Parts: sequence; structure tokens; C-alpha cells
Amino acid sequence: MDPLSETAIAELGRLCPDGVERGVDLSAVSQWRIGGRADLVLRPASTAEVSALTSWFAARGIRPVVIGLTSNLLFDDAGLRVPCIQIGARMAQISLEGARVRAQAGIWVPGLARRLMQAGLGGAEHICGIPGTLGGLICMNGGSQRKGIGSNLLEVESVTSDGVVHTRPAQEGGFGYRQSVYQANGEIITAATLHLPTRPRAEIRAEMRAILADRRRKFPRKEPNCGSVFVSDPALYAQHGPPGAIIESLGLKGRRIGDALVSPRHANFIVNAGAARSVDMLALIQEISQRSMTELGAPLRAEVRYVASDGTTCPATQAHKDALAETAP
Ligand SMILES: Cc1cc2nc3c(=O)[nH]c(=O)nc-3n(C[C@H](O)[C@H](O)[C@H](O)COP(=O)(O)OP(=O)(O)OC[C@H]3O[C@@H](n4cnc5c(N)ncnc54)[C@H](O)[C@@H]3O)c2cc1C
Repeated sequence: MDPLSETAIAELGRLCPDGVERGVDLSAVSQWRIGGRADLVLRPASTAEVSALTSWFAARGIRPVVIGLTSNLLFDDAGLRVPCIQIGARMAQISLEGARVRAQAGIWVPGLARRLMQAGLGGAEHICGIPGTLGGLICMNGGSQRKGIGSNLLEVESVTSDGVVHTRPAQEGGFGYRQSVYQANGEIITAATLHLPTRPRAEIRAEMRAILADRRRKFPRKEPNCGSVFVSDPALYAQHGPPGAIIESLGLKGRRIGDALVSPRHANFIVNAGAARSVDMLALIQEISQRSMTELGAPLRAEVRYVASDGTTCPATQAHKDALAETAP
């Protein structure tokens, strides 16, 4: 069944009341301000709705894309022809019980960090400046100060691609440096339980303020961006330093393709300096990675994930060359 037919839209509306939107301009909603039109975006309000939607799609052989706040995503200018499930503000409840905190996956990470500080729970200060959802953070095992959220988790609730809800202990989440099982298993994270030690609120607040001040000083703030574009490679790091220093040493700070610009403020950030297209971003990301390969012997690998119009999602350095050709003028 065509998910855009009137019958399908009516059925989806019953499974996800008030959460169905057609024809969403991704360049208006994505953090990089890049992307074409998404045919269908669904914003469920509970795990039960996520399960009902995924079962409905599985029964019709349709594989939707899952997104959070898009702070780590590059959408194609061709948009999205498959349905997109966005876990966000409609799934943002939190409950605290001693050192255990259960939060829905759509909660905004800086807001979660603030709630933890107010409750006097430490250990997750490192997430306070990350502008995504908890679900996106867990999928990316995001963090700062050389930490990842995986080490703060007890368990993660997710929904499989055929609608089954299950809870996985954190040890089975495959958490490594910016890695988790959720990047490949097609499950949708719906909630998580964190376990955090108590810590004086003043100490937590002071640490968070220092982290935020440091980020304000170092990162570009005005132009649309997706945070660090490349992950740190241990071998490259040992010899040449972090990705920003490597990009600078390759002479690529300030390099521009179209309106995609390596930030003059921090070289591991690529900003949209106006009307950048996905093809510009991909070309610049791949040029940087290849220059690292030819001049330093190892490529830089992208943390940012590219979403093709058929929903295929992969690190932007692995985007197929066709993506560069398809959208070229
Ligand atoms: C200014 C800026 C600063 C940043 N700083 C940091 C930083 O310090 N550390 C860091 O790690 N990252 C950082 N990031 C990157 C980004 O914010 C994180 O990766 C964030 O956790 C992504 O969350 P999101 O909700 O935006 O996910 P999205 O970007 O929407 O999605 C990212 C990936 O997660 C998947 N995903 C999203 N939600 C779910 C879900 N519910 N279930 C399953 N999969 C899901 C998507 O399919 C996609 O593959 C920064 C970004 C910006 C713009």
C-alpha cells in the first residue's frame, strides 16, 4: 500500500493521533538547514504508538527512517521518499527514583542534564551542551570530555522493526567510541534508564558552567552546523592530534565548496554559510577525508550521518559517490 494514499494516511492517523504530517521541508527543520521535502513525518507520543507504527510498516514491507533533532544528520537535497518517524518533544517524560532515572527518548538532552543537576545526580555533566534528543545521543553514544552516554545507562527500551518492544541491558548496547548497536539494527529507542551517583548540586552546576563556557569559546555559534563532523581516529590522534588540528594542518580551515564552509573558528565544524546543498557538504567532507588518507595515511571518518532519499543512512564519508552525482547541477 502506498503510505501516502488517503486510506493509509487515515489508518496512520488512528495509530498516531495528531502526529502525522505530509510534505515537510527538511531544510526548514534540520539543524544544518539542508534537505529536500520529506513525504511523510510521524511523531508518535508513546512506545505503544511507535510499536503500532512499526508493525503497520513491517506488514507492508516499508522501512521507515528514525530521527531525533537532526543535530547529527545530513539530509539529501532530494528529500525523503520513505516515511520518517521522529522521536521528539511528544515523548519527553522523565521520572526519578533515587539514583535511577527513567526518561523517554525524545527528551532534549540539555534539559535532561539540567533536571539531573537539580536532583543532585552527577556523572552526566558531559552531556549538558549537546543539542539532541536522548534517543539520538544513545544511538551515537554521544558525549564530551572523552565520555559517552553508554557509561551512564542501566538499560534501554527499544522497538524492533516489526514492532516488538524489548529492554536491553546497557552491556548489550555495543557502546564504543560514538558507536552502538542501534546504528545498524533498525530499532527505535523509546526510553532509557540511567544510573547516576549523588553529587552536590553546586559542584555539578560549576562543572556544567565550565563545559558550556568552553564550548561557547571554541565552537561556531551563529551558522547552522552539526557539531563535530569527524570522529577522532586513535592512530591519527596519536601522531597528529584531534580532527580539527588535522584539518587545519592540511590547510583546509576556511575551505569552501558552494556554501559549505570549514569553520574558521573550529576546523572540525562545517557550517552552512548560506544555501549549502547536500552535494556541497558531501564533496567537502569527502575531500577532507581523502586528503587525510593521501597525506597522512589514514582517512578521517565522519561522525555525521548522511540520509539518502531512500532512507539509507550511513556515515557521510561512506555516502555512495552517486549521491554526489545525483544532486549535482
Ligand atoms: C552545536 C553542536 C554540538 C554538538 N556537540 C556534540 C558533542 O559534544 N558530543 C556529541 O557526541 N555530539 C555532539 N553533537 C552531535 C549531536 O548533537 C549528537 O550526536 C546527538 O546526540 C544527536 O541527537 P539527535 O536527536 O539530534 O539525533 P539525530 O541527529 O536526529 O540522529 C542521529 C542518529 O541517531 C539515530 N536516532 C535518533 N533518534 C533515535 C531513536 N529514538 N532511536 C534510534 N535511533 C535514533 C538516527 O537515525 C541517526 O542515525 C553536536 C551537534 C551540534 C549541532
